[in-house]
Amino acid sequence: MRSIMDAYDPERFPPAARTCPRCGRPATLRFAGPCETCTDELRATIRGEAVQIDAEYEPKRNVTPNAVALRDD
Ligand SMILES: [Zn+2]
Repeated sequence: MRSIMDAYDPERFPPAARTCPRCGRPATLRFAGPCETCTDELRATIRGEAVQIDAEYEPKRNVTPNAVALRDD
């Protein structure tokens, strides 16, 4: 027996022909948004930025031995 809620089941929501808002290519998507290719690219970009941030976050040692050397005249 079917429930009226079946119509609202996301698994039953039919994919529709849409245009990817990012690359402009036609894609069959269940919901509006970037296509699978763009989603993968965005994920890779986010990962890449995260790695870059981690690399830049490496603390620099601002030790200035010159200050000591100048006093040791
Ligand atoms: Zn796309």
